[in-house]
Order: sequence, then C-alpha cells, then structure tokens
Amino acid sequence: MAEIHDHQRAAEWFKHVCRDVHGRLDGLDEGALASYIPELARVDPDHFAIAAMTVAGRSANEGDCDQTFTIQSISKLLMYGLALETHGRDEVLKRAGVAPTGDPFNSIKLDEAHRRAPNPMVNSGAIAIASMVEGDDLAARREVVLALFERYLGRRPEVDEAVLASETVAGNRNRAIGYLLLNEGIITDRVEETLDLYFMQCSILVTAVDLAVIGAAIANHGVHPMTGQQVVAPQVSRDMLTVALTCGMYDYAGEWAYTVGIPAKSGVGGGIVGMIPDVGGIAVYSPRLDAHGNSVRGIRVFEELSEEFDLHVFDADRPWRRNT
Ligand code: GLN
Repeated sequence: MAEIHDHQRAAEWFKHVCRDVHGRLDGLDEGALASYIPELARVDPDHFAIAAMTVAGRSANEGDCDQTFTIQSISKLLMYGLALETHGRDEVLKRAGVAPTGDPFNSIKLDEAHRRAPNPMVNSGAIAIASMVEGDDLAARREVVLALFERYLGRRPEVDEAVLASETVAGNRNRAIGYLLLNEGIITDRVEETLDLYFMQCSILVTAVDLAVIGAAIANHGVHPMTGQQVVAPQVSRDMLTVALTCGMYDYAGEWAYTVGIPAKSGVGGGIVGMIPDVGGIAVYSPRLDAHGNSVRGIRVFEELSEEFDLHVFDADRPWRRNT
C-alpha cells in the first residue's frame, strides 16, 4: 500500500515537473525548422509536447501531445530492431557497425576499414538496414515496415504523403549514399526501391505520446506497456538501447551521453524519444532544430528531467528502477 502511494506521489511530482519545464521552455524559440526537406519547413514551429509512459503504463502528457509529425530518423531505431530480429547480428554487422561517427547524420562517408556503414542511426546505415527488408516488391516491403510500426503504435500507421513526396524530390543526397552502398556491395540490388522504402519509413506520422509508448516498449525489454505484446526480443532491445546511447543523437551523441545519459533517438521532424531501462519512455516534440539536427527544446527538456529525476543510466542513485 505504501509502495503504491509512493508511486502515485512520484507520478504527481513527475507531472508537476513536466508542466513546469514545459511552461518555462515554451518561449524558447532558438533553432530552425529543417528546410532541406521543403515540406518540413511548413510545420508550426511553436508546437511543443512532452509525453512520458512508464513500463507499467502510467502516463504524463503536457502540451501538444495530439499533434502528429513525421517520425524521421527515429524510425531508424525500429528498423534496426527489425533487421536484427530477421537476420541476426552477424548479417546486420556486415552492413552497419556500431561506432559513433562524429559526422553529420547525412554524411556520405562509410567505414572504409570494414566496408560497411558506420552505424545504423546515420543515413548510410539506415539505408543499408532498409535494404534488408524482405519482399518481392516495394508494396510487399512497405507492408513489412508498416506491420512493424503497427506493433509499436497499436494502430495502423499513417504516412504523410506530402512529406514523402517532398523527401523523394529532395532526396538526392540519400540517393548518393544509396548508390555508394551499392558500389561497395553493401546493398546488392533494388537501390531505388530501398530508398523509396527509407523515405516512407521517415514519413510515418506519430505523436509525442506514440513516441513515449515506443520508448517504454524498448525500455521494457520489448514488452509493450499497453498491449503486453513482446514487440521485439529482449536481446534485440538491448542492442537497440546500446546504439541509441552511443549513436542516437548523431554527432551530439557523446555530449548527450555525458550530460543526459539516456539512450535516445532524434529525428529532423522535431521528435526525440528517450528510453530509461526498466522505467519507461519520454518523448519531446518541438520542431526547431540545432545545427546537429536535434530539437533545441527537446534537448533542454531531457537535460532538466535527467537532472531532476536522476535518470542518467550511470547515476549512483536511480530511485525509479522497476515497478514504476
Ligand atoms: N528523412 C531524413 C533524411 O534522410 C531523416 C534524417 C533525420 O531525421 N535526421 O535526411
């Protein structure tokens, strides 16, 4: 009884802090919308949502939590899990390593020594991972990806067709990466089809609440906090958390691990999802980005919450572990 009472108090405190942080950062308008995908420059820059979901299914939502936006690079994390589950570590490691790069997410540089993409969280690695989706044609492969997202979202995912069209038109840098992967034998066929698939995965619509749920499932060794379904195998969720911690925030990943210390993934749509092992997922949506392509307010929120609640994975005193 006392324990339940404590959890309720903790939940109230967490909600209170989220409200406070949201209120304080609401006026922060540093950063700029991603414009290299023209359609992304059309979103309302002021949207700001903070959502959290614990592994036990408790939630806290603040701000524009119903607002949808495109998942962008956060899709890379789920796709990495799918590739590991379908093909196993050895096959995946042939195509993408696990080393952070210090280079921008859209860098065209590969890991020359190993003839593979540096990691699955940058575009080169994500395109290599997308190439591993099985199916006879684009429609069949799209279905595999949509079914994957459906497991996490608990509903049929929707694709933002305008963003997809925009990505396709503006995607020549990703095409260059795709053809380089083909040239190196990391992708062996259907490069245009794989790029279409990659553009589609990036254009899936989510809310901050969706991201918090996704984060909670991954933080919970693959067990979905709402459906109880094992959406990804525990050993795969471990690999997902590991690369999220080392590579999830692009070339800011080192600083992020040092200051925030929460495995996380960001996207140029303005979302960031953080996964606190055995505790839950936290998501922020705020589309103004810094030079690395990470949400400015998103980083600030995570810094504050990590500090306030000792959420760094290496904090000595982590009072929230389990049963939250
Ligand atoms: N679709 C975007 C791209 O390929 C995803 C990048 C991102 O979110 N960092 O450029």
